Amino acid sequence: MSMKIPAYGARAAKAPLARLIIERRKPGPHDVEIEIVLYCGICHSDVHKVNEDWASTHSPVVPGHEIVGRVASHGPNATRFREGDLVGVGCIVDSCRSCPECRAGHEMFCEKGVTFTFDSFDQNTKTWTYGGYSTNIVVDERYVLRVPKGLDPARAAPLMCAGITTYSPLHQFGWKAGDQVAVVGLGGLGHMAVKLAVSMGAEVTVFSTSRDKEKDASRLGAKHFVATKEPGALETLQGRFSLIMDTVSAPHDLNNQLSLLRNFGTMVLVGLPPAPTPLNANTLIHGNKRIAGSNIGGIPETQEMLDYCGKNGIVADVEVMNADQINDAYKRMERGDVRYRFVIDTASLRA
Ligand code: NAP
Ligand code: ZN
Ligand code: ZN
Repeated sequence: MSMKIPAYGARAAKAPLARLIIERRKPGPHDVEIEIVLYCGICHSDVHKVNEDWASTHSPVVPGHEIVGRVASHGPNATRFREGDLVGVGCIVDSCRSCPECRAGHEMFCEKGVTFTFDSFDQNTKTWTYGGYSTNIVVDERYVLRVPKGLDPARAAPLMCAGITTYSPLHQFGWKAGDQVAVVGLGGLGHMAVKLAVSMGAEVTVFSTSRDKEKDASRLGAKHFVATKEPGALETLQGRFSLIMDTVSAPHDLNNQLSLLRNFGTMVLVGLPPAPTPLNANTLIHGNKRIAGSNIGGIPETQEMLDYCGKNGIVADVEVMNADQINDAYKRMERGDVRYRFVIDTASLRA
């Protein structure tokens, strides 16, 4: 039993996105049907996937994993939500639920294989998943998030990926209030990293490729700004930071950045460029510096992040647009021209 849903996606790798109709399962006993009449953010991972930057993408691909909508209906055993509730869906829509990683709330590392919100093979339905550039989605209630009251739904949508991806590493790598934290790349993830780190008491420095975003960085709460392409920009900053969060979507030099860490400091990579970058062991060994990665966050931590943002009034800075503008948004993201998350008004898919 399936239903036909208006969506926006790419029919082949690197193809422009266009309107299409997808099929989704009807809600089962544990499912929640979410009418995404509201919003879906555009993450740079969506762009990487359409461009096949990482590995092959299954076509057609309907991206989107920063979803906020209202519950339209639910199965008889789905008791966590009521019709009309404001809910979110992030990157994960299913996992085995019983392996050690699932039990620990790290569903993204499910030992039997996680089902991501789009371009992922769903073991139960034996179909590929389609994401949030669509009007409705059906998700098991275990993977549905509650959006705290008081958060603007359009500005809350990017929390489902950009929010959790930057919140989680801020808790993993041991720094304390008052410490120097750097955020490299001021895009969707970067601007959330600044807001969250500032709210937790860090003194934040933004690294950006030009001075274009300097005023914004200060408005977002950063104390310092570095235009990385200016000659000598990094010279006075050697050994300064306890934590550097790198959110850059394209290959760039990591060794210069490592030299900016304090001894025992950590540089965590969350940006996922398509090509590898050389690493000089010297820059790590002198000062016992650490390099780490962090992959989104599990469902319990994502809910914790949402509740934190609800309490602290933290949301994304967004540019809301219609589905027909998605291809322009992709082009702008590819040249770093994003302030600071594009969010699709999915009602425009019905037009
Ligand atoms: P975005 O909004 O497009 O921002 C990326 C920023 O990187 C740009 O705004 C730009 O900032 C900087 N940048 C771009 N090209 C650059 C270059 N050649 N050299 C230096 N800086 C450059 O992207 P996003 O949505 O925040 O995503 C960022 C990356 O994180 C992507 O690779 C995405 O796939 C990845 N991601 C990872 C996870 C995870 O779980 N780890 C989750 C979501 C996304 P400036 O203008 O300030 O220079
Ligand atoms: Zn994402
Ligand atoms: Zn599992």
